Amino acid sequence: MKKNSPIHRATRKKPVSAAAVPDIADVPALDFGSAWDFAPAPESTPVAIQDRYQLFIGGKFVKPASGQYFQSINPATEQPLARIAQANAADIDNAVKAARKAYDGVWGKMSGRERGKCLFRIARMIQERSRELAILETMDGGKPIKESRDVDLPLVAAHFFYYAGWADKLDYAFPGKSARSIGVVGQIIPWNFPLMMAAWKIAPALACGNTVVLKPAETTSITAMHLAQIFQDAGLPDGVVNIITGDGKTGTALVDHPDIDKIAFTGSTEVGKKIAKALAGSGKKLTLELGGKAANIIMEDAPIDQAVEGIINGIYFNQGHVCCAGSRLLVEESIYAQVLRRLRDRMRTLRVGDPLDKNTDIGAINSREQLNRISELVDSGIEEGAELFQSPCALPGSGYWFRPSFFTGVTASHRVAREEIFGPVLSVMTFRTPAEAIERANNTCFGLSAGIWTDKGSKIFKMASQLRAGVIWANTYNKFDPTSPFGGYKESGFGREGGLHGLMPYVVLE
Ligand code: NAD
Repeated sequence: MKKNSPIHRATRKKPVSAAAVPDIADVPALDFGSAWDFAPAPESTPVAIQDRYQLFIGGKFVKPASGQYFQSINPATEQPLARIAQANAADIDNAVKAARKAYDGVWGKMSGRERGKCLFRIARMIQERSRELAILETMDGGKPIKESRDVDLPLVAAHFFYYAGWADKLDYAFPGKSARSIGVVGQIIPWNFPLMMAAWKIAPALACGNTVVLKPAETTSITAMHLAQIFQDAGLPDGVVNIITGDGKTGTALVDHPDIDKIAFTGSTEVGKKIAKALAGSGKKLTLELGGKAANIIMEDAPIDQAVEGIINGIYFNQGHVCCAGSRLLVEESIYAQVLRRLRDRMRTLRVGDPLDKNTDIGAINSREQLNRISELVDSGIEEGAELFQSPCALPGSGYWFRPSFFTGVTASHRVAREEIFGPVLSVMTFRTPAEAIERANNTCFGLSAGIWTDKGSKIFKMASQLRAGVIWANTYNKFDPTSPFGGYKESGFGREGGLHGLMPYVVLE
């Protein structure tokens, strides 16, 4: 069998657990017929993309001190979209000074009620411009328009609305204590949910009276600059939020700036560790939202069809570019064949392609670098003896794409079971008892999220209390709400975002 055929059997080693569990071939295939064929429905609303995006410092769009710009491309076409300003240490110094001035002069003194009004205005303007923002998010990042339109943008607005509501109620959030703002906060975010990560960080920081210097990821800076435009139009006082664009060097300069009071970072565990080392002993506060390797556990009494949709949503949603993705599937051995059969048949119906098409399920991988990383890890899975299934779907000729995939015959020591792939690749393992499921689920250096599928509420509570994961979904997956805290254990970081807990990293309690 050829290496790139839908089912590629590794020749070096035999799958370890495949022989012990029921065979998929014994379960009849599902026939989805032609119900899933749709005519192309590309999003046609025109959006204005600037040739160049400047830095947003002190309420103005300014050229970078170096005069340098880098290219942002559409990962679905590899075509250039815009040139983005490369900020250096001098720009960061200007941004931090603007944030400090705004903190001392305006925002730090403003009443919670007035801060709340500003945040409500921003939330409403995000709603008004959500179509434009969703299209830009999809063009710059590669995610399907139905996700940016129906998931990301509603949540972005919801976070601003939610924290706008807290701005004048901080005394009620922390009864018996008085909450004081921290000062100037540096925030660094990744490329998988660009606007959502910006909202998760900016909204609580501002609600608590801090000012912000935000650095978006280098491959997805465009929507952050449109958000800056909204801040300007909403009348947010100058310097309250400053947005500086650039790569890891820009992030390092922000972390190292002496007048920053706190760093909030979301990104890889590798970079998170570097930041933790750099800040040790500096007195600066730190929160880290890092990687994950979540277990999605399917018990034999689970509603299987719903669970299969939950597995699809858990790993193929947003091309698997999700820190809390259910990337390890743990299936009770007795239903293994049924689950795998349904999963395989359902995967064949997933539409991979033009992210701007409203029917697309799986869009483009965010960058060539990320595509290479996914491919390298998938190759390692094959090398180590796991068995790969890939949806046989056609892929577009240009752009960065990866077929929805899963591995069976995975053991806990395989890299695909241990490392974050951050792509549409699932590692399937089996278990025989709830205790074994818990042991396997917790057998990871991460602890961000997990899923449990079962008919029994008692099993959900018992298992959830034993899982070492910050977020646990029961009979659903990848559901977010601004009122609900999110964050990890172990190498998935510390601190919580969302909900009342999401206020804590942005206040000093006295
Ligand atoms: P990354 O760590 O490479 O980059 C994240 C951000 O940090 C980018 O803005 C980048 O420019 C910047 N950066 C890079 N090197 C830096 C340095 N030395 N100092 C300061 N800043 C630096 O991560 P990524 O590839 O953009 O994102 C994917 C990772 O993010 C995954 O591991 C994913 O799990 C994680 N993530 C976690 C959460 C969460 O809430 N836990 C949410 C989304 C993404």
